[in-house]
Amino acid sequence: MNIRAPIIMETVFVAIAIIIYMLTSNTFFIFNFLYIGTAISIGLFLMAKDKPYARNVIMLAVGSYLLIYVGLLGHENMLMSGFWYYLFLGVFEAAVIHYLIAKIAGPFLFGRGWCGYACWTAMVLDLLPYKTPQNGRKNWGYFRYVLFALILCFVAGLFVFKVDNLESIMFYAFIIGNVIYYAVGIALAFCLKDNRAFCKYVCPITVFLKATSYFSILRVKVDKNECIECKKCIKSCPMDVDMMDNSRKRTNGTECILCTECINACPNDALKL
Ligand code: SF4
Ligand code: SF4
Ligand code: SF4
Repeated sequence: MNIRAPIIMETVFVAIAIIIYMLTSNTFFIFNFLYIGTAISIGLFLMAKDKPYARNVIMLAVGSYLLIYVGLLGHENMLMSGFWYYLFLGVFEAAVIHYLIAKIAGPFLFGRGWCGYACWTAMVLDLLPYKTPQNGRKNWGYFRYVLFALILCFVAGLFVFKVDNLESIMFYAFIIGNVIYYAVGIALAFCLKDNRAFCKYVCPITVFLKATSYFSILRVKVDKNECIECKKCIKSCPMDVDMMDNSRKRTNGTECILCTECINACPNDALKL
């Protein structure tokens, strides 16, 4: 990890803070993006110093801030149901801005960095014992599309049937949704011996993330001249990515969370971001 990365990251977040403030005149977004940018920059600095816990530090700092401060204390539904809700209302609130930056537009630039460095569900899943999958990958990815459709229908139904008290319904949907995600995520991790099983088979946000991260500028690439085909990188990957193939169509290419485990595992410095 380059030591310049924290400075570049902080600069990017300062720019985002200024742009969003100019669009909304809401000072909260200055605090919000400066906090997130600083947390990520400190984590990147720790990564540059080869601290093995650096990514967990970033995830805990950013993920718990969004879950507890913005979501629970700020009463803003930051789950996908909240995204649709505020979008249908036509309100340019934190949840919509968050989705646009981290999960829809951002992945064209930084892929699924959200999943590797900020998600409050994965900040817990990554602390479980199965950092690399112990069994083969299941063919269960279709479930994410089912859940995506169910959430969209749920929120659309609230508007179609003109249900009252939408604000409090969405707040409870945020709490209940997160409890279910944590319960299912932890149960799947232990059943399948794979911390990231929830990300691979269930998470509906991947419908956005996989589509846009396919085009990501930031990608792990292999230098074939340096590679000795030992496959230590493949064994270290939590997301079953074939990072030895540089094409965009590589196996599970849209699953990469930029965790850099493969880069650290390579004995020949053949992998780069
Ligand atoms: S796939 Fe979903 S649960 Fe997993 S890290 Fe990404 S957003 Fe979080
Ligand atoms: S760990 Fe490095 S040298 Fe070994 S197969 Fe992967 S890229 Fe090649
Ligand atoms: S180990 Fe490498 S290929 Fe796998 S998710 Fe992490 S950065 Fe991506």
